Amino acid sequence: MQTHNLGYPRIGSRRELKKASEQYWAGKLSAEQLMTTGKEIRLFNWRLQKDAGIDLIPVGDFSFYDQVLDTSLMVGAIPTRYHTLMQEKQLKDVDLLFAMARGYQKDGFDITAMEMTKWFDTNYHYIVAEFVANQTFSLFSNKLVNEVREAKEAGIPAKPVLLGPVSYLLLGKEKEPGFHRLELIKRLLPVYLEVLKKLDDAGVYYVQLDEPCLALDLTEAERQVFVKTYREIKAKFPDLHIILASYFECYGNNLSTVLELPVQILHLDLVRCPSQLDDILVNASFVNSATRLSLGVVDGRNIWKNDFQQSVHLINKAVAKIGRERILIAPSCSLLHSPCDLDLESDEKVLTPEMKQWMSFANQKIREVVTLKQLTSGEPGAATDKAWRENVAATNSRRTSALIHKVVVKQRVAAIAAGDARRTHEFAERKLRQRELLKLPAFPTTTIGSFPQTPEVRNVRARLKKGEISPAEYDAFVEKETEAAIRWQESIGIDVLVHGEFERNDMVEYFGEQLDGFVFTSNGWVQSYGSRCVKPPVIFGDVSRPRPMTVRWSGYAQSLTKKWVKGMLTGPVTILQWSFVRNDQPRSETCAQIALAIRDEVVDLEKAGIRVIQIDEPAIREGLPLRKENWKEYLDWAVRAFRISASGVEDATQVHTHMCYSEFNDIIDSIADMDADVITIECSRSQMELLEAFAEFKYPNEIGPGVYDIHSPRVPSKMEMVALMEKARAVVPADQLWVNPDCGLKTRAWPETKAALVAMVEAAKELREAVPAGAR
Ligand SMILES: [Zn+2]
Repeated sequence: MQTHNLGYPRIGSRRELKKASEQYWAGKLSAEQLMTTGKEIRLFNWRLQKDAGIDLIPVGDFSFYDQVLDTSLMVGAIPTRYHTLMQEKQLKDVDLLFAMARGYQKDGFDITAMEMTKWFDTNYHYIVAEFVANQTFSLFSNKLVNEVREAKEAGIPAKPVLLGPVSYLLLGKEKEPGFHRLELIKRLLPVYLEVLKKLDDAGVYYVQLDEPCLALDLTEAERQVFVKTYREIKAKFPDLHIILASYFECYGNNLSTVLELPVQILHLDLVRCPSQLDDILVNASFVNSATRLSLGVVDGRNIWKNDFQQSVHLINKAVAKIGRERILIAPSCSLLHSPCDLDLESDEKVLTPEMKQWMSFANQKIREVVTLKQLTSGEPGAATDKAWRENVAATNSRRTSALIHKVVVKQRVAAIAAGDARRTHEFAERKLRQRELLKLPAFPTTTIGSFPQTPEVRNVRARLKKGEISPAEYDAFVEKETEAAIRWQESIGIDVLVHGEFERNDMVEYFGEQLDGFVFTSNGWVQSYGSRCVKPPVIFGDVSRPRPMTVRWSGYAQSLTKKWVKGMLTGPVTILQWSFVRNDQPRSETCAQIALAIRDEVVDLEKAGIRVIQIDEPAIREGLPLRKENWKEYLDWAVRAFRISASGVEDATQVHTHMCYSEFNDIIDSIADMDADVITIECSRSQMELLEAFAEFKYPNEIGPGVYDIHSPRVPSKMEMVALMEKARAVVPADQLWVNPDCGLKTRAWPETKAALVAMVEAAKELREAVPAGAR
């Protein structure tokens, strides 16, 4: 029996890589210093794993930006727009990598970055490879081989990790028509074989090829590409031990293909899919083969301590069937998605010892893998006994702790009735009540909620946190900012105002800090993309709302004006999606608890005279399971959670929601099912194209298609916005349309925000004059 790890966080336990990269970009650090930081992180991670007792240590999991982009550089898939930079500016190595990831805007060049998208259902984003019909590949970067040499010199038992060739192609994108990217495998595979040859020459024995696309729905043709590719690899390198790794889902209906692949070791994500162990162990030809199993029993994507009893049970089941020698113990996936080290959480006022004993970050997970091997190897010692006892005690404590389990919350969720997830009347009826009450003009204007979080706003909040100013001084500052925002919106004639959210740090953190059942770590950072790291809240227990969260600021803003001020909330699915979620109950249950807390807030806002309330759900789409067969179950509970949060108010109170992505076609019926009175969506970058999904579906409720892109400081003209709204009007009745930007404005500065919103209000005026849509 051996242990291995699929990948370790590369940001450094104190975000050293983030800091060094950003200093390098700012010209404050030399390339050599940046390289040194990278090397130090690699050596630190390797030694930590070696000292913990991991047998095969991943090498190649480190990246200065992203492992998929590293693969593009390895195989020489460099889009032509960067070739001039390579020739004229001699751009290479890490500078070329950063130019591809971030774009290159200097010395008279203006070259766009490569596209970024989410890595499966995680919050990590990778750089999407670009392919053309006459795409060629050639070995370009020797980073992997160099790092393997570096590891060997340091005495590390290196196991190179590469993104497999088939998933690399599937995760990329055709940049021109006339071919399918998988056809490129014939040209790509020779480069992979060249890399494997170099690794073989370097004395490597094990190589991990990640093929996470085996967790997705595949066509038969796609499956056959896997079979052909791995047969060819096997033919060329019969003695190399290939570890095939997929994760985040079951192999499912790809399993028979996977079992055909001539690999020496097959990795199973037994956290996401424990049942696939049985599926494999009943397969006689597998049992009689020599193929080994890597059991991914330690969750690589969460912060909870492993349940040893459960893991030992799974491992022993496999041992009984195929013997110890054929087993490896591992985390479920790369630990890239875990924070680095729980030992750095030293503030006992924040993370009490009781809570801390339930948790495990990457460093601790590595040790769990090793302990699990010891526990199932039949050679327990005193240390193993102690680890076992502590683990059982922690697991039991989570089961019974009064910090986690609140009877009242559980009872309330159990008592949710069908009527709680339904407004009193259908939209057609509500619309009349809302028009009577709100008296808005045709094409009403609004914004998505946040106004610029200027350096001053952030600075004042930082000073409050450090205790340099009192809460009263802070509140006075926020009042002043809020009043200024209200007055300004009144002066330019916006119809539904917002208070500006100057009091908020982050749209999830702000609520998490005020809800019971959440805790915040000091150092629990995970990489989101490049140098960007996020510190997700931890939902550890039953969620409830001890007191109103937003009524003070929304109520204050409403008291300043006769116009309607929109209350701003983050929806239950988004709060769930952007947190580390407890794993001792279904996500749907936790989501329902959050939904009730938000519902209470919605009701309190209404009581305080707020009659337009927006519940943002930007993350509802990213929660979609990887396989389509599981979509319905997820959408059912996610949509229900939103409806629970929105349905406690009178018909006349108008509920908005906001989403900022552009793929609605496949989930449009669920979006409609949310039954928000108004939905605001990103539209300007697609030139209103995505409205077609709403038009085709005959979306019955009101829609605010974003009329300008807030991701750029560019100020659009009135005419551009009128033209976009004309396009919208061609597919959606004017009576249903609102006029608003794409998204919140917190990342923008005031000058462009003001100029753009003035033009937006003018555009709405022009639309009203051209189209008398009747009284609203
Ligand atoms: Zn948005």
